[in-house]
Amino acid sequence: MSRQQHIAAQLRAIRARIVAAAQACGRNPAGVRLLAVGKTFPVEGLRAAQSAGQDCFGESYLNEALPKIAALTDPAPEWHFIGPLQSNKTRGIAEHFSWVHSVDRLKLAQRLSDQRPTGLPPLNVCIQVNISGETSKSGVSPNKLDVLAHAVAALPRVRLRGLMAIPAPNNDVDTQRAAFRRLREALEDLNAHGLTLDTLSMGMSDDLEAAIAEGATIVRIGSAIFGARG
Ligand SMILES: *Cc1c(COP(=O)(O)O)cnc(C)c1O
Repeated sequence: MSRQQHIAAQLRAIRARIVAAAQACGRNPAGVRLLAVGKTFPVEGLRAAQSAGQDCFGESYLNEALPKIAALTDPAPEWHFIGPLQSNKTRGIAEHFSWVHSVDRLKLAQRLSDQRPTGLPPLNVCIQVNISGETSKSGVSPNKLDVLAHAVAALPRVRLRGLMAIPAPNNDVDTQRAAFRRLREALEDLNAHGLTLDTLSMGMSDDLEAAIAEGATIVRIGSAIFGARG
C-alpha cells in the first residue's frame, strides 16, 4: 500500500469510529468534526489526507505550520491552531488561522483580536481549560473560566466558540468520561450565564469514543491518521 493509500485507509477507519461512537449514544455523526492534527508530519501526508477528503487541519507550532499553509492552497483547507500560545506568535496565528483552540489568558486573546486582519472574518477561538489539575501547565483553571470567557466573548475580532481540554491520558473509559464531562458541564454553565457557545474540542486518538459520548463537537486526531510521531 502506498503512503497515500495508507493515510486514506486510516482516515476511513477514524471516520468509522466517529460514526459508531456517535450512533452508540444517539448523536448525529455530522455533529462531530474530525480535525486532522498534522504536527510533526510532513506536508505530503497532509496532502494525502486532503485528497482523501479531509478539509481541516490542526497545527501546534506556528513556524512548522507556515510552510504547510503556504504549500496547501489548492484548495486551502481550514487551519486550526491547537498548540501553546506565545505573545510573539499571535500575529502570525491571527493572520493565517481560522481557529485557535488554546486561548488561556485574556492578554493573548486581546492580541489575537487586535491583530486579526480586517479583511478576514473574526477568528474563532476556544478557551483551553485545565480540567485535570496538576498534570498540565496549559489551560485556565476552572474557577477562573467564567471571568475569562465573558472577557474574551466581548472582544471585537475574535468569536468565542467554546472550550478545549487535553485531559491527562488514562486507559479507563469512566475516568476519561469524567474529565470530558467536566468540560461539557463548564460549557453548559457558561451558556446558562448568557453565552452561546457551540463547540467542545475534546478527544484524541486514544479517547475519542469517551469524548463523543460526553458531547465533543471537534475531535483532534493525529497519530491514528498519520502514524506514530518520532
Ligand atoms: C498532538 C495533539 C493532538 C493529537 O494527538 P494524537 O494522540 O496524535 O491523536 C490533539 N490535540 C492536541 C492539542 C495535540 O497537541
